[in-house]
Amino acid sequence: MSSVLWFQGGACSGNTMSFLNAEEPTVIDLITDFGLDLVWHPSLGLETGATARKLFWDCARGVRPVDIFVFEGSVIQGPGGRGTYDVFADRPMQDWVRDLAAQAQVVVAVGDCASFGGLPATAPNPTDSTGLQFHRRDPGGFLGADFRSRAGLPVVNIAGCPAHPDWITQILVALATGRAADIALDDLHRPQTFFTSFTHTGCTRNGYFEYKQSTVAFGDGTRQGCLFYEFGCRGPMTHSPCNRILWNRQSSKTRAGMPCIGCTEPEFPFFDLAPGTVFRTQKVAGVIPREVPEGAGHLTYLGQAAAARIGAPSWSKKDMFVV
Ligand code: SF4
Ligand code: SF4
Repeated sequence: MSSVLWFQGGACSGNTMSFLNAEEPTVIDLITDFGLDLVWHPSLGLETGATARKLFWDCARGVRPVDIFVFEGSVIQGPGGRGTYDVFADRPMQDWVRDLAAQAQVVVAVGDCASFGGLPATAPNPTDSTGLQFHRRDPGGFLGADFRSRAGLPVVNIAGCPAHPDWITQILVALATGRAADIALDDLHRPQTFFTSFTHTGCTRNGYFEYKQSTVAFGDGTRQGCLFYEFGCRGPMTHSPCNRILWNRQSSKTRAGMPCIGCTEPEFPFFDLAPGTVFRTQKVAGVIPREVPEGAGHLTYLGQAAAARIGAPSWSKKDMFVV
């Protein structure tokens, strides 16, 4: 039986919504089949008021052991480092986070905000938000780069906005069944099993990408063309399994005609949401994508793109998924 305590900081509850939609396993399965003891969760916890406060203090003081401390949302440090923009159960949330992280066997950041600061940490960041162990791509965040939980692990970052339900539940199952040592992390502390491949991997538009055939307009044949060239798709630069582990078991953003906006990466949201940057490929000299697929150089990419366009077969200019 592994105890799980879940708190929320600067969050929209999106990761909670995602978690509650889990199917393999479901949240019920986690409790009945995998022995998760859900000590408290903002949407599922039964305790309120003084009872809840006592429970939290018992966890924070080590009276009640916490095996897995899950945090959703950014850590709000403002104003002036006091954290009083986010008060929960009579004290700044950041104080709860510090105490609970010190007691937990494992600390898990769920979502981009808890992992890297996410949307709340976007400039000018009025709440002084940050991630648990990273601020954007920089190690540190709230707990510091050297933080290790009682089990000797750094914060496990399940990035995403939101994280896919399977990414959350499968990591919780691994931790709850004593397989923490099997979770290999990348340099941003994301589980490699989910964050090594790209959104691009398995996208049904890959044939179009290969021959540099662009989608022409939103809603104009959502299954035709690739969204990289005009619509700002970040699939080739974003580490996620979104086209391998489908959403709702059937689709993904890019399959539905929506560009990947890179929500599993520390820079998300990109370009500080400046007008004209969302859903628009940023280009140099009007034609060259400012960012090319990870691992490719601009010159190599340009040469390959030109050749691919010339050699594009006729099928690459059509909708391949006509029913
Ligand atoms: S739509 Fe995006 S993820 Fe899909 S093939 Fe094009 S660039 Fe890759
Ligand atoms: S497709 Fe991209 S933006 Fe959408 S959930 Fe996956 S990684 Fe995030």
